[in-house]
Amino acid sequence: MMNTTVKKVHNYSAGPCILPKEVFEKAAAAVLDLDGSGLSILEISHRSKAFEEIMAKAQALVKELLGAPDHYQVVFLGGGASLGFHLVPVNYLREGGKAAYANTGEWAGRAVKEARSHGTVDVVASSEDRNFNYIPKGFTIPNDADYFHFTSNNTIFGTQYKAFPKSPVPVICDMSSDIFSRQVDPSEFALIYAGAQKNMGPAGATMYLMDPEKLGHTGRKISPILDLKNHAAKDSMYNTPPVYAVYVSMLNLEWLKANGGVRGAEERNAAKAHALYEAIDRLPLFTGTTEMEDRSTMNPTFVLKDASLEPAFDALWKEAGISGIRGHRSVGGYRASMYNALPLESVMVLVEVMEEFSKKNG
Ligand SMILES: *Cc1c(COP(=O)(O)O)cnc(C)c1O
Repeated sequence: MMNTTVKKVHNYSAGPCILPKEVFEKAAAAVLDLDGSGLSILEISHRSKAFEEIMAKAQALVKELLGAPDHYQVVFLGGGASLGFHLVPVNYLREGGKAAYANTGEWAGRAVKEARSHGTVDVVASSEDRNFNYIPKGFTIPNDADYFHFTSNNTIFGTQYKAFPKSPVPVICDMSSDIFSRQVDPSEFALIYAGAQKNMGPAGATMYLMDPEKLGHTGRKISPILDLKNHAAKDSMYNTPPVYAVYVSMLNLEWLKANGGVRGAEERNAAKAHALYEAIDRLPLFTGTTEMEDRSTMNPTFVLKDASLEPAFDALWKEAGISGIRGHRSVGGYRASMYNALPLESVMVLVEVMEEFSKKNG
């Protein structure tokens, strides 16, 4: 049934992105027959026992893989991480209160914008002065803020916090593009949220991992569909959850668990990032676009020092079966997104292409 002659592509897409082949195979099989039930995953009720088990497993795997405290709760909602930008102030910003934000890129900026429509926002740190090519450090978070929000990995600009800011107030983090890529301590966060499509699963689900004790203190009247407390109380079944996206995320988290968990992913991601950045720094035609100490392991960004050589470089990597390394339209150059499922082998192919290109044009 599976087409085994699929063209070999090294997929560097920034998201939606590569997932393990085994996950695609199981996901495809379940569309025709979910675990021998004779029913497709696409046609079962979200209230069925089969799906209740899938949801429970996905929630448990999130907590287990990240090492979350027992009382933390997980929900999967639609709307993307962008809806999360809205849900954060609605659920955590008191009426008349103030929120602290770090602005380190496009997504962080959008989160600020959403929060501003609900109250006062104090941007306590920003790297906008240098087109977001670094992570601000040593800033102060006011202790009268209701929460502090930051973006752990800046998908578009290729920077990543290596140490998380110390905060006197509850911390909320958009981890969309580096969740499950490295070990974190969820107990330091009131809320971690992430769109599934970058390291967890397909587009369509956004995961919220939250400390329920930090919810319900705003004094706001929150409509039930936007109320994280409500979604948690209904165990992510207040309305129909994104069934298939949750299912495929569950399969991917099972794969991660069987492949060394987050620690294993962290080691593989470090090896991949080392291989690519080493080439960027060694080969004189290339240069990285961010501060070295803030380089993202997930989304390395780089440019050709001579942009007129781009068509020649593009032809070479395309010929090698590489896909998706053109930079975001707001940055230009190149971005090689290296999420968990991208094998080191694909990175070596890119490094070889960069070496060959350097020989021809150096
Ligand atoms: C992709 C991305 C988003 C936006 O996600 P949507 O699901 O498209 O809303 C938000 N934050 C970060 C860090 C991202 O990488």
